[in-house]
Amino acid sequence: MRIAVVGTGYVGLVTGTCFAETGNHVTCVDIDERKVNKLRSGKITIYEPGLDVLFERNIKQKRLEFTTDLAEGIKGAEIIFLALPTPPGEDGSADLKYILKVADDLGPLLDKYTIIVDKSTVPVGTAEKVRDRIAANATVEFDVVSNPEFLREGVAVEDFMKPDRVVIGTESAKARKKMEQLYAPLVRQGNPVIFMDERSAELTKYAANSFLATKITFMNEIANLCELLGADVDAVRRGVGTDSRIGKRFLFAGIGYGGSCFPKDVQALARSSDDVNYDFKILDAVMDVNQQQKTKLIPQVKEYFDGDLAGKTIAIWGLSFKPYTDDIREAPALYNIEELLAAGAKVKAYDPEGMENVREIMGDRISMCENMYDCIDGCDALMIMTEWPVFRTPEFDQLSEKLSNKVIFDGRNLYEPEQMKELGYTYVSIGRQTVN
Ligand code: NAD
Repeated sequence: MRIAVVGTGYVGLVTGTCFAETGNHVTCVDIDERKVNKLRSGKITIYEPGLDVLFERNIKQKRLEFTTDLAEGIKGAEIIFLALPTPPGEDGSADLKYILKVADDLGPLLDKYTIIVDKSTVPVGTAEKVRDRIAANATVEFDVVSNPEFLREGVAVEDFMKPDRVVIGTESAKARKKMEQLYAPLVRQGNPVIFMDERSAELTKYAANSFLATKITFMNEIANLCELLGADVDAVRRGVGTDSRIGKRFLFAGIGYGGSCFPKDVQALARSSDDVNYDFKILDAVMDVNQQQKTKLIPQVKEYFDGDLAGKTIAIWGLSFKPYTDDIREAPALYNIEELLAAGAKVKAYDPEGMENVREIMGDRISMCENMYDCIDGCDALMIMTEWPVFRTPEFDQLSEKLSNKVIFDGRNLYEPEQMKELGYTYVSIGRQTVN
């Protein structure tokens, strides 16, 4: 099949590359010239494990191409995916300007029956809007399908190539058949392709992300309660997670969720609810708690230094919003860094993949370090913001030698408090008793 993917970011590049890998000819379109030039010269623009191998192979086989020209990109395409940004607008609702602009542009360019697929996360009713905008200028038949994406950054290739399920919202038999053919190689093990109406498909994505954000947040509140009641959230987690109705995943307490999806999608669902006068109370609570949770360690850092961080240097391990990605959008680390700088502290940071992106937005306000041990050298305290595996079993000898004070504020519960106590650390974590 010939496919076009409009928007070549985290979702678009993975979608395009993976569909090329299953034998389709894919052209990815993006308005960002710098990005397209880089991709054209064979350089990958994001860090995503395993993507580089597929990317190189499919470029070599000429199944994967890149352009900034929409008309050229969609030429001959039977299916056009929209993987465009849907950032929060001023009121928190999803801003559809990128999607609707491309819908306007597509209308006059279509020269035969084409399926246009919304892969972006969009509010209920967007497929209808896209259809109307295309129809205003189109002279041929077309279908608009909702096909929300559930991949997780960090394991995006695996998720895309072997999805738990594929959700497709369409009432067109023609579009359904084509989409079934396209996805067939990815669901050979029997995972379902679930067909439904467009509105339900659009809502499914928001329901999934909001439920997961709620699960994380619920456990973070249990963690906060553990601290006050003298319990250990890790024990509680194991106790509840083994109940098959609850499940073991998404129960790790920490400094809140970040990323480009959960924060904006919870907010967008809350605004969609407002629009129909439904007071979705849980979502408001989830947003409030998560906002507080992100910087929950800061008062404890301040207290350790008797309220005065001026002139102190704090080491930060982890900048990306989660491990195995260079994505720093809404990363809790950024909020903590801002608070530390505002309190007069200096910040040194290390992250295996996220430093370049942080440098772009923070410039020389913080120093980036070559490795995790340079990062702590001469620092007054260490804060852990992302659970990269490399931080899990550090050389504690080096840590003790290089840190000026043996104190760690761990936002991801990487170490056992008992072990830290034996090593002589003051160790503050989430939902567990502080040891010193
Ligand atoms: P992104 O910002 O990484 O990528 C979007 C790309 O679209 C950018 O490269 C941008 O230059 C390009 N673009 C903007 N306007 C354009 C236009 N007119 N023509 C062509 N290209 C244009 O965003 P993303 O993380 O890939 O997310 C895309 C959508 O997918 C969002 O709706 C998001 O909510 C959803 N989603 C994201 C993830 C994720 O993990 N990132 C997962 C599932 C769903």
